[in-house]
Amino acid sequence: MSNVEPAMKQTGSPGWDGAPPKIHLQTFGCQMNEYDSELVTTILKRKGCEFAASEDDAEVFLFNTCAIRETAHNRIYARLDALKTIKRKRPGLVVGVLGCMAPNLKEELLLRFPAVDFICGPDSYREVPALIQRSRTLHDRGTEVELSEYETYEDILPTRVEGVNGWIAIMRGCDNFCTFCVVPYTRGRERSRDPKGVVQETKQLVSLGYKQVTLLGQNVNSYRHEGSDFADLMKAVGQVPGIERVRFTSPHPMDFPTKLLGVIAENPTLCSQIHLPLQSGNDRILKKMNRNYRKDEFLDLVSSIRETIPGVSLSTDIICGFPTETEEEYEDTVDVVNQVRFDSAYIFKYSERKGTVAKKLWADDVSEEAKSRRVTDLVRRQKEISLENHRSQIGSVQRVLIEGTSRKDDREWRSRSEANTIVVFADPEARVGDFRQVKIVGATPNTLLAELT
Ligand code: SF4
Repeated sequence: MSNVEPAMKQTGSPGWDGAPPKIHLQTFGCQMNEYDSELVTTILKRKGCEFAASEDDAEVFLFNTCAIRETAHNRIYARLDALKTIKRKRPGLVVGVLGCMAPNLKEELLLRFPAVDFICGPDSYREVPALIQRSRTLHDRGTEVELSEYETYEDILPTRVEGVNGWIAIMRGCDNFCTFCVVPYTRGRERSRDPKGVVQETKQLVSLGYKQVTLLGQNVNSYRHEGSDFADLMKAVGQVPGIERVRFTSPHPMDFPTKLLGVIAENPTLCSQIHLPLQSGNDRILKKMNRNYRKDEFLDLVSSIRETIPGVSLSTDIICGFPTETEEEYEDTVDVVNQVRFDSAYIFKYSERKGTVAKKLWADDVSEEAKSRRVTDLVRRQKEISLENHRSQIGSVQRVLIEGTSRKDDREWRSRSEANTIVVFADPEARVGDFRQVKIVGATPNTLLAELT
């Protein structure tokens, strides 16, 4: 851990040797990574760099990586492997690996992938220009993976890439140490941003035409800054003139703040939608995961959320096949899914992650066949529930925000309801960023179909 305050840290290259290089930046993984890529873009633009849409035009390739899921790992490995050939043809090319894989794998990445010139962890993005410069001039393979107790990039406004929803990181790191998760080791200890900075960033987004912001944190319940907690922050952001919708992700079921429910219920700009990660419905597995709640406590929390915010939309994350999970224990998870009837769920097979407590202590002993079957069955069940939930909305009138054109038919819009469900409808007069009142006329497990009212 670094105890050096950001103001004292080196802030990048003193200047380029020649023209600033053209950068191609590719992001893998979660929304926090997307946000971090926007920060890195600002840091490099401040140093005069331009960004190339295609790799063919770039002199530096940056990969902002994710260490959470095996599928993300494998995609990134395949990409880094393929770069060996490209680098032989383009010897001046610089390749940097940013994000969670850097502190997770450290030198192993440099040893395994000769094409990688430097690695840089989530708390060292101010060093990216210097790392690029070092690779270009000294042909040196740099490693900046130190975690900080202070870095929140408070003075850096992200370079936004889309104009409807703006992501705002309100905190960094996590102190919860769920045994399956690498985040506390790759993103370090929890740090909260000053609410004034978050409100300022919201105002800036409104001035750019954004209608919605989503506040991001690994566990927003722990947000604290001087006297302010997360409910205070949500209220303040929801009151910024011009902001129409505020969402957040993710809270932890362990210490979900009751005060937040009241604030959501009372403030119309705060969306009635909560992503509440369950992970497992079995008490023994929850304990092994270090989640600090039981099945009955999770169900009680859902009841109190629904009492305070009638009609609230709930989504979740679930892991199937955590070490030693039996069929009966998996059935407890199915039972919670049946009782809660989430609107949607991200359901994954457990996969070992380097550096986690689970990998150190327990064998990955649930067979691949059992994991796949549990995921397939649960996804099927969740789809049935999502479809039933969606069908029950047919005939209702909802306010939706247009995000872009529909993937299937470019004469139709892809929009989002307050519950964060995709709603597809046609309106030749509308534009991206517009709100419309629509009547729901059809449903699939993932989408609502609508007509303009
Ligand atoms: S709360 Fe648990 S799962 Fe979420 S980031 Fe922290 S350690 Fe990982």
